[in-house]
Amino acid sequence: MIAIIGAGPAGLAAARAIALAGFAVTVIDAAQKPGGQYWRHRSTVDGYKATRSEKYFSTVMGNPLVTYINGAQVWSATRSEKSIYINYLQSGVEKRLTCTDLILTTGAYDRSLPFTGWDKPGSMTPGAAQALLKGHGVIAGKSIVISGTGPFLLPVAVGLAAGGAKVEGVFEANSPLRWLRSPLALLLNPEKALELLYYLKQFRRYSIPVRFGKAVTEFTGHSVRISDVNSDMTIKKTNVREIDCNVIATGWGFVPDITLGGILGCNQVVDKDGTVVFSVDNNQRSSIENIWIAGEATGIGGSDLALAEGHIAGLSVIGKRIPFSLNFSKFRKRLFARALQVSYPVNPGWKKWLNRQTLICRCEEVSCGQILDSVEELKAEDARTSKLFTRAGMGLCQGRICSRNVAEIIGESKELRVSDSERIAYSNRPIAAPISLGTLGDGISSK
Ligand SMILES: Cc1cc2nc3c(=O)[nH]c(=O)nc-3n(C[C@H](O)[C@H](O)[C@H](O)COP(=O)(O)OP(=O)(O)OC[C@H]3O[C@@H](n4cnc5c(N)ncnc54)[C@H](O)[C@@H]3O)c2cc1C
Repeated sequence: MIAIIGAGPAGLAAARAIALAGFAVTVIDAAQKPGGQYWRHRSTVDGYKATRSEKYFSTVMGNPLVTYINGAQVWSATRSEKSIYINYLQSGVEKRLTCTDLILTTGAYDRSLPFTGWDKPGSMTPGAAQALLKGHGVIAGKSIVISGTGPFLLPVAVGLAAGGAKVEGVFEANSPLRWLRSPLALLLNPEKALELLYYLKQFRRYSIPVRFGKAVTEFTGHSVRISDVNSDMTIKKTNVREIDCNVIATGWGFVPDITLGGILGCNQVVDKDGTVVFSVDNNQRSSIENIWIAGEATGIGGSDLALAEGHIAGLSVIGKRIPFSLNFSKFRKRLFARALQVSYPVNPGWKKWLNRQTLICRCEEVSCGQILDSVEELKAEDARTSKLFTRAGMGLCQGRICSRNVAEIIGESKELRVSDSERIAYSNRPIAAPISLGTLGDGISSK
């Protein structure tokens, strides 16, 4: 039996390829509706190429070959020589699914950087603001500032403005001129220019101001301080300005969600930008024979790349040949993904925004000063040792949000580069979601 964990673009494309070839497949996802981060859409929210998802939804939802298990959070997985056992929680009950072949398409989540006031109510990631809007029809605030880096800021701003929020501005830390460094990627992906035009039109329609080389470096709860930043992301002394708003959405790209593949032992590598991703072959096969991985978990590249990779994984798992056109489409989109890394780097100067009081681990309320003290006074060498002294990374999110920042703050204070092994260590955790002892004790019902 073939199973897919994740019903985002990659998972749906894989399921579609498998079902169209006449094979049965089970798709499992934590969310109530299919679509992943990108397509969790409601009919009331417009978006670029929003109707594209319909062909994936209809093949998957209306197809007797596809079993769709929703609202099912996979908390762990194990494997024997021939089978993979997927343990998940559904409505508070622990269940198990056994499969012979697995495609992991677990996606990514927002990357956050700390700044003064990022722990105040009203501060959130663009992904959270978008999830509230698309998933629940809720507009996060009346007046919203969006800041950080990357093209994802554009659909969030447009979605919120279309939903009725006043978007006070989009403050992009990097310069658009950085795109000139990737001419081949632009040449091979002309459709991206149309996407940009679409967003420019929407920005004009909703009168959303966009500024480059700027970032939110402080939030009071009802206003933000915008600073001009250099290309290394240190603050220029001049032109600090304040804007009133009740919500600030800041995002610095995405972090691939590698937890489940890590638990199953799939090989990981550190990408050029410091994120940890799975290493897969041309057919999306992981280092474990009967596990394939596609989409953002193999590197951030956008929904088009996720669709191509999911399609390839789906064909590969049923032993079908991958058409040249599909491989070429993936190549083009991978090139564009590289250009995204070049155009929207998160350079190390952000650490200069911090002061000793800035919280770095919000779950356990650990400040920058406490982390630096653990290095200087208690001789912590890395994020793991600092965690033992300070509890940074020991809260509910298990370091998903802060551990990279903690490691990079420590690396800078010691004037050392964070090693690849440390990056892989802080990116992995032994269980994928919290489970209570009571639920665990009640046992598993197999499916
Ligand atoms: C918050 C956020 C919002 C985004 N919005 C946009 C946008 O508006 N426009 C755009 O172009 N791109 C957007 N992106 C980028 C977009 O996510 C990707 O390009 C695309 O959705 C990636 O597809 P995917 O299938 O790899 O992963 P995803 O779409 O992230 O899907 C992964 C799926 O796996 C499921 N999953 C993960 N772990 C588990 C588990 N343990 N148990 C059960 N299920 C699990 C998740 O519930 C999710 O449905 C967004 C990304 C994020 C993180």
